[in-house]
Amino acid sequence: MRVLAMLDGTLADPDRPHLTVDDLAVLRGDGIFETILVVDGKPRELGPHLDRLARSAAMLDLPEPDRAAWERCAAAVIDAWRGESEMALRLIYTRGRETGDGPPTGFALGTPIAPKVLRNRETGVAALTLDRGYHPDVVATAPWLLLGAKSLSYAVNMAAIRYAEAHGAQEAIFVAADGSVLEGPTSTVVVADGNTLRTTPPSSGILPGTTQAALFRAAEKAGWSTKVEPLRVADLRAADGLFMVSSVRKITRVHTLDGEPLPEVPALHAELSSLYESEY
Ligand code: PLP
Repeated sequence: MRVLAMLDGTLADPDRPHLTVDDLAVLRGDGIFETILVVDGKPRELGPHLDRLARSAAMLDLPEPDRAAWERCAAAVIDAWRGESEMALRLIYTRGRETGDGPPTGFALGTPIAPKVLRNRETGVAALTLDRGYHPDVVATAPWLLLGAKSLSYAVNMAAIRYAEAHGAQEAIFVAADGSVLEGPTSTVVVADGNTLRTTPPSSGILPGTTQAALFRAAEKAGWSTKVEPLRVADLRAADGLFMVSSVRKITRVHTLDGEPLPEVPALHAELSSLYESEY
């Protein structure tokens, strides 16, 4: 089942065309998006997702998103959903037509969670570290690279996942030119060491994750300490547990890194998952 609502809140047929061929999302990948997990009709971390949509829009010089309109549009999809208890809700906001004479394009699309994501949640994943091809210095010196924006230009991210899959893994972990760990193509990297959770700082050009933030909030309430600091690949190998987290994959564990098995940590995985669920 799939449900589509346009930004004005009207439902539309997801099997009919709705974009013009000169929409800049089609021609240039010029737009932004969010993917939100909805469980039993409740969107998780909706506020942080809408905050991030506004932040991405500002980075791409798109008109500021109308928050109330996006909330209405999301609610229209959620209300019409008759599928599984979990839905992936995508908000898509593009620069509109190349002619420049129309408004930006906005719509929300609800779909089931992909079977691959559900499988990986259960089994965990093998990950490969892959070079992302930039030095973290460029975050400050080259804002046009849009590092840290959730732009629609995800062809590189998808190519990294295909590369990982073609080389016996399910996931990629991007590494910067200085050897520091960045993020997954669609996830945040989290390591657990003793009673401490660590993740990479957004200043390295990664997308600030809403799932990581929710997990860290819950962990701090439960007495864990949390650190947002640069990580090296060696830190991932040495950690008690390595996880890739995002809205739809939740807390997925990494059982193999660059072909080397990591320790099995079912109790730690269960603990972090229940901390994350406690924020809901
Ligand atoms: N990093 C990237 C590049 C992503 O695309 C995503 C989500 O798709 C994340 C991190 C995780 O973000 P969130 O936890 O808000 O879903």
